Amino acid sequence: MDDQDWSIDTLAVRAGTERSHFGEHSDALFLTSSFVFANAAEAAARFANQAPGNVYSRFSNPTVSAFQDRLAALEGGEACIATASGMSAILACCMSALRAGDHVVCSASVFGSTVQLFNNILSRFGIETTYVAAAEPEQWRAALKPSTRLFFVETPSNPLMDLADLGALAAIAKPAGVLLVVDNCFCTPVLQRPLALGADVVVHSATKHLDGQGRVMGGAVVGSKHFIDDQVLPFLRSAGPSLSPFNAWVLLKGLETLPIRMQRHSENALAIARRLEAHPRIARVYHPWLASHPQHALARRQQSAGGAIVSFEVKGADGASDPAALRAAAWAAIDATRLVSITANLGDTRTTITHPATTTHGRITPEARAAAGITEGLIRVAVGLENPDDIYADLVRGLPA
Ligand SMILES: *Cc1c(COP(=O)(O)O)cnc(C)c1O
Repeated sequence: MDDQDWSIDTLAVRAGTERSHFGEHSDALFLTSSFVFANAAEAAARFANQAPGNVYSRFSNPTVSAFQDRLAALEGGEACIATASGMSAILACCMSALRAGDHVVCSASVFGSTVQLFNNILSRFGIETTYVAAAEPEQWRAALKPSTRLFFVETPSNPLMDLADLGALAAIAKPAGVLLVVDNCFCTPVLQRPLALGADVVVHSATKHLDGQGRVMGGAVVGSKHFIDDQVLPFLRSAGPSLSPFNAWVLLKGLETLPIRMQRHSENALAIARRLEAHPRIARVYHPWLASHPQHALARRQQSAGGAIVSFEVKGADGASDPAALRAAAWAAIDATRLVSITANLGDTRTTITHPATTTHGRITPEARAAAGITEGLIRVAVGLENPDDIYADLVRGLPA
């Protein structure tokens, strides 16, 4: 069997490993900043990109390369560049693909720092961004301008689990010569492979599920060999937001268990979502694998499971539904937990819980929050790998019986 035909479980464990002359079984950690050359001519050839081989760990390192090759294999991409964080992956992608005067269309409910990057930083370099609903392809088409170069989308969205139909967005982007970039942080390649659905580039915060155990920061850009080698690598080489070899080594170990972790995260999240949906003190539950999800059919087509994130709206005490009553009920539920961690992070073996209206989405205006559907009663849970019965009991501990 050719390694192109290996399943994702096999690729997660095996892809990218290149054994050194020591014959080590596990991936080696090359904690070195530079590499030596046999002679001056070899140094000259490597510096000029005329001979293969490592030069300096800002732009190439064997441990980082192993992580890049493994993630590229999982995403089904030709090439990958690892970066110091998810945000530096998004920055590297934008700096490589865009120039002053270009226009970006972005889904409205992307990660908060992504919005800051587009609105406060790239805007200063003459790059303009329009926000549209992830789930409405016609809004993307309507936002197109002659200067549009890039579509940026997260699916499912955070925290309400709206899905973007990646095939439909690709069908709009491609004829317009627009690069479709997907932040695949929530699903990982185990649940969703955007490149196979027509996307051009996948970006990752490896800090989340790829590590999966809350240890290191990292990021990655996956795409065509031309985009990665000729556009992103020169940016990384000159600007330097590189992944540390140590972090790459931790992430390599994370990838080996990614398929089984994503499967269990998804099973736990669905089991908990179903039980929350039946709870009398909960008004609504958001998870793509629930039949009640308005885009459930799309989720089934586009993803292989629902993922770790479950959001739900609690009811106010005594039927009250004003914002103060909803916030009090949500905070009481969060404060009553004893097992899950009150933190905004996600993609960890440990379940985390957060109140989006006053944390991740606390700095946007109340009107913008309402338009995004983020109420004071909303709670977001990133379901971990603890026993789902224990997690569920903890989540409903603070809800009136
Ligand atoms: C966390 C996150 C990022 C940013 O990643 P960092 O590694 O924290 O820089 C980007 N996109 C999504 C969807 C995220 O959850």
